[in-house]
Amino acid sequence: MALIVQKYGGTSVGNPERIKNVAKRVAKFQAQGHQVVVVVSAMSGETNKLVALCKEVQANPDPRELDVVLSTGEQVTIGLLAMALKDIGVKAKSYTGGQVKVLTDSVFTKARILSIGEENIRRDLDDGSVVIVAGFQGVDEHGNITTLGRGGSDTSGVALAAALKADECQIYTDVDGVYTTDPRIVADAKKLDKITFEEMLEMASLGSKVLQIRSVEFAGKYKVKLRVLSSFQDEGEGTLITVEEDTNMEQPIISGIAFNRDEAKLTMSGVPDKPGIAYQILGAVAEANIDVDMIIQNVGHDGTTDFSFTVNRGEYAKTQAILENIKKTLGAREVTGDNKICKVSAVGVGMRSHPGVASQMFKALADEGINIQMISTSEIKISVVIDEKYLELAVRVLHRAFGLDQ
Ligand code: ADP
Ligand code: ASP
Ligand code: MG
Repeated sequence: MALIVQKYGGTSVGNPERIKNVAKRVAKFQAQGHQVVVVVSAMSGETNKLVALCKEVQANPDPRELDVVLSTGEQVTIGLLAMALKDIGVKAKSYTGGQVKVLTDSVFTKARILSIGEENIRRDLDDGSVVIVAGFQGVDEHGNITTLGRGGSDTSGVALAAALKADECQIYTDVDGVYTTDPRIVADAKKLDKITFEEMLEMASLGSKVLQIRSVEFAGKYKVKLRVLSSFQDEGEGTLITVEEDTNMEQPIISGIAFNRDEAKLTMSGVPDKPGIAYQILGAVAEANIDVDMIIQNVGHDGTTDFSFTVNRGEYAKTQAILENIKKTLGAREVTGDNKICKVSAVGVGMRSHPGVASQMFKALADEGINIQMISTSEIKISVVIDEKYLELAVRVLHRAFGLDQ
């Protein structure tokens, strides 16, 4: 007997028929003698609708109240799935994050899980029930409802698997595994049987939303066996996220191409070039809880410097306002920005032992006339910022250039 945590994403519970199908799959696992904990997302599109609804009432929604509203999507699906299971004779019980309880910090809309109460879950499992937990949500120490950031049900699933020391965490979604790039953009993307945690972390952090990055971090830290599978197919092993690099096989140099449209670039020009400038600019941004990604500083000849960085597109206006605010104190000339950019990245642990990957990437983009605005590299990834209108072309070109379509 194994303890399995299964997470079903929005499309997989997108209508009553699909919820009934999920119930059948869960019942099948239970009938094989396993204990099953299920984490569900809201029905597809539901969270977006709730965000829009909030914005109609308050243009810049209060974060605490936003979480109160957003968490309702998942409350609907846990109840529906429990009904579907009971309807086919399976004992089941649903829990919201607060009821479990999934304790988080108090950073509304992107809270982090601190601990998970096991008591209710263990008791129900021992009693032969399937336990269904609402993804994406928790509760802070004061009893406030929190949410874990978009795509956060993956993290709920993995965190539960870690807390319960589950034998496996299965992430069921609308594709049958992790691909060399988003199969919706490149038709001949290939499914990977395995990918290392390290690579999956990079892919997720660089925009492959098939897994939320925090779920991969959690799985790596607590050694959760993590697999991505399709909820629409009965066959198939999906993709296993592994700790080990495969030393038997010749490693491919590049494992995947990731991209992120959700980017914006800001530049503070003509800043006096003296110590403390980066701190003053980025310190002000960090204070507002805004994550900065790529950073470039160019020194001019006139004792001033241009300072550019990227942020999430949703925080563009807020960041612009912060920079305008400190511009005068810093003695900077102007603040400019562009929120029609994107980031495209090549990821692979094989890069470590293969110099020349960056130039191969830059050549492939140059051959298509795609201008690179910013570059950043690490041991296992190379990212470029380009104009958003070239995104799909760049992804396709790089996928081919690194032989991922073979
Ligand atoms: P869910 O609602 O099940 O959580 P998501 O939409 O969050 O599903 O994630 C699945 C989607 O991730 C796929 O439909 C696919 O378009 C996208 N995706 C992006 N990059 C990849 C990749 N490298 N491999 C597989 N899917 C990817
Ligand atoms: N429903 C939430 C979202 O759309 C969480 C999730 O699907 O993982 O972001
Ligand atoms: Mg998701």
